[in-house]
Amino acid sequence: MGFAVNFAFMLPVMMLTFGCTFLVVARFGSREARHWALGFLSAAVAFAVPMLFSHAPIPLQAMSAEALFLLAFYGYSGALLARFRRPPSIRLRAIFCAVAYAGLAYAVLVLQSLPAELMLSDIACSALLIFAIGACVHEARQPIDRILLGVASLIVVETIVRNVVLLAVFAPEGGLESFGDSTYAFVMQAGASVIALLFALSALAATTLDTVAQYRDAAERDSLTGLLNRRGFEEAARRLRVRGALHGAVILCDIDHFKRINDLMGHAAGDAVIAGLADLLRQRLPAGAFAARFGGEEFVAFVPGATLADGGKFANAIRLAFSAADRTEVAGVGKITASFGVAAVASGDPSLSDNIGRADAALYAAKDAGRNRVMLEGTPAREAPAIHVAS
Ligand code: GH3
Ligand code: MG
Ligand code: MG
Repeated sequence: MGFAVNFAFMLPVMMLTFGCTFLVVARFGSREARHWALGFLSAAVAFAVPMLFSHAPIPLQAMSAEALFLLAFYGYSGALLARFRRPPSIRLRAIFCAVAYAGLAYAVLVLQSLPAELMLSDIACSALLIFAIGACVHEARQPIDRILLGVASLIVVETIVRNVVLLAVFAPEGGLESFGDSTYAFVMQAGASVIALLFALSALAATTLDTVAQYRDAAERDSLTGLLNRRGFEEAARRLRVRGALHGAVILCDIDHFKRINDLMGHAAGDAVIAGLADLLRQRLPAGAFAARFGGEEFVAFVPGATLADGGKFANAIRLAFSAADRTEVAGVGKITASFGVAAVASGDPSLSDNIGRADAALYAAKDAGRNRVMLEGTPAREAPAIHVAS
């Protein structure tokens, strides 16, 4: 029995710890974590009911604990549904909990049967989990998602096994009194505690990994344009290099006479023009390419697999589309142009910044030659052939 007492003490403390941890994670913007916090804090109090209210009448203790356990599994199922972006089904789950609670009240207050109470409680809690697992199982793509759903399924399996053992082995010969002191009870409590711990840990790992990924993504993005920033661009290039796939064309681009737009129409108008060029880059670059705002009104893009001439063609398409827009309303000038420099990147090149440096020299040559054009790297840089539209 000494072990059982320890478990009785351990579980609420463990659940409380995880519940509080999830509250902290929730403060970092994870909606899912709030559901987990509800689940683990409810479970903590539910497990603590016999200790906290030891003098209260047993039926009152039972009805409080059962309400809290239902709330806990309502929280867990809600957390899974939120994590996998499934419909929350709040009404359905709430009605189910209400019906289950009515059944539990009948078992506790009318039948006064502990086995009926425990079994009904197990069925209701498992059903909430099974519902959520069923709704989410096809959405689990990352390993941590599969682990989480696997451990949730383990809780269901453990519950079923426990009840079958209870029904088949202990019910025929004297029921729960003999079960409480048995090795079975000890093993099962130990097993359930380990599974509960695994469940909490995998839920915590899943939500913190999400939160970290969210912050990393934010740190690698430019807030005005939604494109990558310099750090994000370097990271994307590093990932390609690791896979041995860093070959293609790098395109550098700078808006012409941008200071004039700022001076004429103000900073906000300038920002709108910057965002407009970013949209064009997003739309016009081929799949697999990535673009970044390198600062101010300067952009960089990498097109995997493209030759220098291909890079020149993509740049020219973007240049023509950008200069075609009538910007009298936004920027006070009818036409805004941009200049481009392109360099080729081979897998064996020592450093991407060398290639970017050559594209920058080509961009400089484009500015020098009168702007609104695409220049390819080389000494001297040469203009990429393009159909010039008469202005
Ligand atoms: P050039 O054709 O030679 O490129 O001329 P330019 O006027 O575009 O010259 P440059 O590229 O040196 O100037 C960039 C200007 O962009 C300087 C700065 O005032 C402005 N700028 C930098 N960042 C931002 C921004 O985030 N928003 C706005 N609106 N303006 C910016
Ligand atoms: Mg400029
Ligand atoms: Mg500039």
